[in-house]
Amino acid sequence: MQFVDLKAQYLAYQAEIDVAVKAVLNSTQFINGPQVEALEEGLADFVGVKHAVACASGTDALQMALMVLGIGPGDEVITTPFTFIATAETIVLTGARPVFVDIEEQTYNLDPAALEAAVSPATRAIIAVDLYGHPAAYPEIEKVAARHGLKLIEDAAQALGGARLGRNCGSFGDLAATSFFPSKPLGCYGDGGMLFTAEAEFAEKLRSLRNHGQKQRYYHEMIGCNSRLDTLQAAILLAKLPYFPEEISRRINIASRYSQALSEHFITPTVADGCVSVFAQYSLRSARRDEVVAALAAAGIPSAVHYPIPLHLQPAFADLGYRAGDFPVAEKIATEIFSLPMHPFLTVAEQDRIIAVLLKAL
Ligand SMILES: *Cc1c(COP(=O)(O)O)cnc(C)c1O
Repeated sequence: MQFVDLKAQYLAYQAEIDVAVKAVLNSTQFINGPQVEALEEGLADFVGVKHAVACASGTDALQMALMVLGIGPGDEVITTPFTFIATAETIVLTGARPVFVDIEEQTYNLDPAALEAAVSPATRAIIAVDLYGHPAAYPEIEKVAARHGLKLIEDAAQALGGARLGRNCGSFGDLAATSFFPSKPLGCYGDGGMLFTAEAEFAEKLRSLRNHGQKQRYYHEMIGCNSRLDTLQAAILLAKLPYFPEEISRRINIASRYSQALSEHFITPTVADGCVSVFAQYSLRSARRDEVVAALAAAGIPSAVHYPIPLHLQPAFADLGYRAGDFPVAEKIATEIFSLPMHPFLTVAEQDRIIAVLLKAL
């Protein structure tokens, strides 16, 4: 059994993907081929936002979002400690300082009630993460950002296909970043990412930033990056995109089946009112997590812990001066959380076996 079955996915769409890849190989337009722009248009449409700018990874998308906002040394950016490291890593890479605030116990996302107290005169922006594909508490986060004149970046790396109160993930904040890492809800076959924004000025600057700060070849207006999306990856994503809505509903069905069977014995995911989660991860909580994970492993069922150590306790961020106990909710969740196999090709039989092993483990 696979945690994310990329082979089953490839076999399901193989005819379209193979044709798309061959077309790129024949064209030899490996950089900036027409598929890149077609994908940008397709996903801008999907998310419902004016501009989409493809790039080389979700991490680069976050970093370029910060660069476009002019964030750098002396600035503070508020974010969650319960996320993949890229969210906060990119803040440090720009020269700014990450400031963590605790998470909500229900959704594991940034707690808007804790935000205000973390704002200082140096605060420039907030990065909210849609963890596991569940949108953060945007109406409240947007209010805090507006009150203090802060920019807002949405880390939607796990959340393409999610929504809150009729607004799609990828459309929140001044800029949103997503990832096409293979195991994300919409994955390519390598690294890839994208930025979304309603601001034409940001989009134009991002197109230059991702290409060494040039608009015209060898005329460099600013310091940029080498962060284009490969044409091959764009072609693969274009071939997969028509199937994505169906994949999202399969994920949601699998999640509700898990929750129905397991909610008496585990803390199952909460979907907040008016929200759609894409379940990038289906994560349970148990005080006996390590025992349960061992039972799954013994039965040949893969699982994972997203994430075992909150960022404020990671050695990489030691110089920020945080200590154990600073963010009690994130720290508690990190000891209890674990993720089950979740992908659109998980069969009912596989799911039943996972459920049976979990129930027996307790
Ligand atoms: C995966 C992920 C990223 C980084 O995306 P890459 O494409 O792997 O660089 C950033 N933030 C979150 C929350 C992620 O899950």
